Amino acid sequence: MCYNAISVLDQHRSMISVIPVASPVSLPLSNSAQTFPVQNVYCVGRNYADHAIEMGHDPNRESPFFFMKPAYAVLPDGGEMKYPPLSSDVHHEVELVVALGKGGTNISVAEAADYVFGYGVGLDLTRRDLQAEAKRQSRPWEAGKVFLHSAPCSKIVPKEGDLLEAGNIQLFVNGDQRQQGNINQMIWKIPEIIATLSTLFPLQAGDLIYTGTPSGVGPIAPGDNLLALVENVGALNVSIVDEFSSL
Ligand code: MN
Repeated sequence: MCYNAISVLDQHRSMISVIPVASPVSLPLSNSAQTFPVQNVYCVGRNYADHAIEMGHDPNRESPFFFMKPAYAVLPDGGEMKYPPLSSDVHHEVELVVALGKGGTNISVAEAADYVFGYGVGLDLTRRDLQAEAKRQSRPWEAGKVFLHSAPCSKIVPKEGDLLEAGNIQLFVNGDQRQQGNINQMIWKIPEIIATLSTLFPLQAGDLIYTGTPSGVGPIAPGDNLLALVENVGALNVSIVDEFSSL
């Protein structure tokens, strides 16, 4: 079902805002001067069996699940990410990103491809120490997952033809390969992710979905240069700078 999730707000658009209206975070497209404005950022947890196992979970017993990041987490290709405060164990997670071209609820698996605008290469950067503490205390994950520029994303590549089902996904730190997988290893495929998300949340045009990471996650540090690759999608470069940088 396609609909305008926030049409109730339209009646207020002509009124004068009491504070400046923030312009949306936008990502460039790979093939034109147009941009892709980001609305919400959804992430899938434990969507590759080998990563679920390395984090101490049994992928045969637990289904993937969702969490969110704010739009300010998005950092375009070539950006610098300031190492976030209150952590000494920030990890990389390379992920295929799905960009939605229209919104809806209760989208069927069969219809899901129609909602995909394109793809990106993303990083779900994580304060692993704060996430581990949240898990221990059965608390929400925001402190681990949400910080400025915790969700870098490449240029968006428009979808052509059928949905992407396979392709190498890799992460290099300072030229050394740290993560390697194939998106055909995802437990929930793209249509299942969109269908399931849309039963829980009102999906909108401009939403990004980070689809989970293969194994090999590990720490990054100021001075590191990250290169994330997804076959047939593209590349993402991110530099990590010191927490006290003036960025
Ligand atoms: Mn992740």
